[in-house]
Amino acid sequence: MTIPYRPALAGLEPYGAPQLDVPVTLNVNENPYSPSEEMIADIAAAVADASRTLNRYPDRDFTALRADLADYLAAESGVRLDPQQVWAANGSNEVMLHILLAFAGPGRTVMSFTPTYSMYVEYARDTFSQWETLPRKDDFSLDLDALPRELARVRPAVILLASPNNPTGTALSTHELTAVLEAARGNGPSDAAGSDCLVVIDEAYGEFRRDGVPSALELLADHDNLAVSRTMSKAFGAAGLRLGYLGAAQALIDQLRIVRLPYHLSAVTQAAARAALRHSTIQLAQIAALRDGRDMIVQRLHSLGLETAPTDANFVMFGTFPDRSEIFSRVLERGVLIREVGPAGWLRVSVGTPDENEAFFNALEEAMR
Ligand SMILES: *Cc1c(COP(=O)(O)O)cnc(C)c1O
Repeated sequence: MTIPYRPALAGLEPYGAPQLDVPVTLNVNENPYSPSEEMIADIAAAVADASRTLNRYPDRDFTALRADLADYLAAESGVRLDPQQVWAANGSNEVMLHILLAFAGPGRTVMSFTPTYSMYVEYARDTFSQWETLPRKDDFSLDLDALPRELARVRPAVILLASPNNPTGTALSTHELTAVLEAARGNGPSDAAGSDCLVVIDEAYGEFRRDGVPSALELLADHDNLAVSRTMSKAFGAAGLRLGYLGAAQALIDQLRIVRLPYHLSAVTQAAARAALRHSTIQLAQIAALRDGRDMIVQRLHSLGLETAPTDANFVMFGTFPDRSEIFSRVLERGVLIREVGPAGWLRVSVGTPDENEAFFNALEEAMR
């Protein structure tokens, strides 16, 4: 060893679900439909246009893209944000990193509720932040009774909370969201006496929520300790684009501008994302079909005698199996890749096309024999 790798990183494996070349991949919650021909043509033209000025650095404040994202959020959730209240980066993963760079760090704690997204702990590690978790209840909802006491004990700088949660699919009600935001008041880190915890609601799967389930965007106007993260990777069907974004108070967004790398969103990304957003009506139309696919998957899993976690997302966590690795491998041998994730005994499957869902059930039934 001649170069000084950080001891905390020694022996770690890079994050990532297996990327295997199999006929049916239902493991990372992507939208199974490729973009429409119209969207492809529009992106190609927009990228060609952006290429004419590639000798110049891009708009580092991506003003036009932020306005388009604000329009999209207004259409999707009914909440109209000022473009200055919107931030974006290369995937919501990078948005989260910006948040922790600005609000967490050495001596401060990031908190979440397990089981949850396995990347959160890595953002905490990479920003030299402490990491603390509270367990969810048996039905994967939050233990609201314990929350005020636990927040007063931990004093987290940032709470990362996915709704719908991954891998369980659990969405938060308005009552739960409000309870977390209220418990966060005054319980910010002790080096910033009297501060509130920043609550980040990760709505990567927000578009899949059931009718009547709120978006946390609705609470932004009344809570300046709230930030709501979204992504084009899931419902929007553009995981390859790498575009995640955030709605929050303008003051918070301005604080994120300090820690971003200069020109972090390339001119090509900005152009492609804006072109893709022009096709949001058609992209959003697929969501109804994917929701129906989810509900069908839940029913069929039940008819096989399996349990499912209640889900507002485009995936279903199901089980339980005495040996889930065995089921996972046997499903994979039949050409269907799902995900071995979540509490012991559970597996997760993403909603695919009707044919992919059928292939999954055929494989699962054989695997369970
Ligand atoms: C998939 C996922 C994301 C998306 O990350 P991107 O970087 O935007 O692709 C964010 N949060 C959760 C909980 C996810 O499952």
